[in-house]
Amino acid sequence: MKREKIKELLKSKDVVIDVHTHIGISPKFFYQFGYPYALSFEDLVIRMELLGIDHSVVFPFVDSAFYEIDRNSSKIKTTTRFCDFPYELENRNLLNEVNDIFPKFSSKALPFLMFDPSREPDKQAAHLEKLSEKYPVFGLKTATTYIQAFVNDLETKGKPILDLAREKQLPITFHSSVHPEDPWASAYDLVDFAERHPDIRVCIAHSARFLKPVLDKANELDNCFVDYSAFIIHCKLAVQNSSGVATKDLRFDADYNDPFSVMLKLAEAYPNTMLWGSDTPFNYWIQKYYTADGILNDDRLECGYKEESQLLENLPNEIKTKIAYTNNLRFLFGEEV
Ligand SMILES: [Zn+2]
Repeated sequence: MKREKIKELLKSKDVVIDVHTHIGISPKFFYQFGYPYALSFEDLVIRMELLGIDHSVVFPFVDSAFYEIDRNSSKIKTTTRFCDFPYELENRNLLNEVNDIFPKFSSKALPFLMFDPSREPDKQAAHLEKLSEKYPVFGLKTATTYIQAFVNDLETKGKPILDLAREKQLPITFHSSVHPEDPWASAYDLVDFAERHPDIRVCIAHSARFLKPVLDKANELDNCFVDYSAFIIHCKLAVQNSSGVATKDLRFDADYNDPFSVMLKLAEAYPNTMLWGSDTPFNYWIQKYYTADGILNDDRLECGYKEESQLLENLPNEIKTKIAYTNNLRFLFGEEV
């Protein structure tokens, strides 16, 4: 189905839009004993039907064949053995799977394409443009922590990609961090980026790690949104006072033992900013990864596949509509909707 048709379908009635899911594979996570490491579009659709989700933003996993797995180093290395630039194969395969393998389900997917702001930006921009002319594309996504690239590179080295987003009016979802040893996806950098680019719609993933100054500032910006992706496991991190979420003095004040009350409180505090997204299949996070100083992080966080959508279901109708439909449409298509 064409992009305009899917847009009309979304506008025609109140539906549930999940703004954050992944399909594809991550060989790196698999080889490092990580979970999850894969999800097919067909399996995502089965989950969506089971859970009452009408449309999902889908992106590839965070891995690309362009990055080399090196057991002996925490630094990312690259290789052109399989492809010429980041996410060449992953973006192509995502769109092929959604449109050419499963055309009967394709209107359920709102594909966002992955990019690396720091490496081979011209080649990436040309490819993203080519793909977006062939297939419906609804936005861009980057997860700079995993590829050790700085968000702000998008304004310098990565400018061809930013120019493309502007030209095609594509919103951008950014993985976020507050971890002191993760300078690559700082939630502060993200909200400042949104402020400098009022014509680009920005989504800060993972509830901006509950960082109140960032949530407050995002709330003041019409073009800046925050998604709830992997919400329950982030609440668990807050209960543990993990460095993966904001420190207590800077954390949005809520009872993190009760994720439902936190979801509601965020939606009430920031009524036009919050977007519901599940991060399927990353409702689990069992992974090993390196921080900037070369320390290996070993995490085990669990959340069953139904739990995220159950929180949404239990919200008052008006709030559910805001965070699963109205705000999500505004993020995807802008004020015209
Ligand atoms: Zn994600």
